[in-house]
Amino acid sequence: MDRIYQCEDCGARFEEVELDIEDEPLACPKCGGLDLQLIGEQIAEEEH
Ligand SMILES: [Zn+2]
Repeated sequence: MDRIYQCEDCGARFEEVELDIEDEPLACPKCGGLDLQLIGEQIAEEEH
């Protein structure tokens, strides 16, 4: 299950899996903003 975040600065939405959070805090991949809001979770699609 992936967490969905929205950037408060530019409004971009993205999944946690798109972020490199190994060493750095969560940041918007588009504008680099750190003001992110967790807006939901998405169940991964089943493989066919
Ligand atoms: Zn942003």
